[in-house]
Amino acid sequence: MSIIVDIISSGLLALLVVFLLLLLGDFLSTFLYHVPEHVFGKFHILVHHGKNRSFLHYAVLTKNPLVLLDGILGALPYFVFIPWFWRISPVGTILGLFLGELHVVWRHVFVLKYPTHRLIQKICRFFFITTPEIHFQHHQNAMVAYGDIFTFFDRPARIWLNFLKSVSVQTVR
Ligand SMILES: [Zn+2]
Ligand SMILES: [Zn+2]
Repeated sequence: MSIIVDIISSGLLALLVVFLLLLLGDFLSTFLYHVPEHVFGKFHILVHHGKNRSFLHYAVLTKNPLVLLDGILGALPYFVFIPWFWRISPVGTILGLFLGELHVVWRHVFVLKYPTHRLIQKICRFFFITTPEIHFQHHQNAMVAYGDIFTFFDRPARIWLNFLKSVSVQTVR
């Protein structure tokens, strides 16, 4: 009996770690890297929103070191908590990183050739998960569709974006 309880509790801990890793990773990545980079940097815009670059080409398929660097900087927030999460659940930590990487590939590679199934889109909308279609909007218009993994980061991210923009305009003046 206690073995079953152990399995269930470690499974729940693993799920909690997966969720927290993706949630905190996306939060830090969006608010500390992605949005500021759209205001103060040129790097991410050049790499991620380049007009001459096909959507498909981003990060996953290219070997361009600049593109890889943008990917690494964006992914760094997902790594900072590893020592902490590892102590709670190594399985959850590995699974979280794997799912995070899988989502990068999913939201960038399949959108043009294989539209997301309606049912999956519905499930994603219910759980506030960013689909390739939603992320594609961000590639086309850098003012919308923030939150690489979770859509509920979009609204606060846009407020953060507008705030940083007003600050940057004032400092330039
Ligand atoms: Zn992207
Ligand atoms: Zn962007």
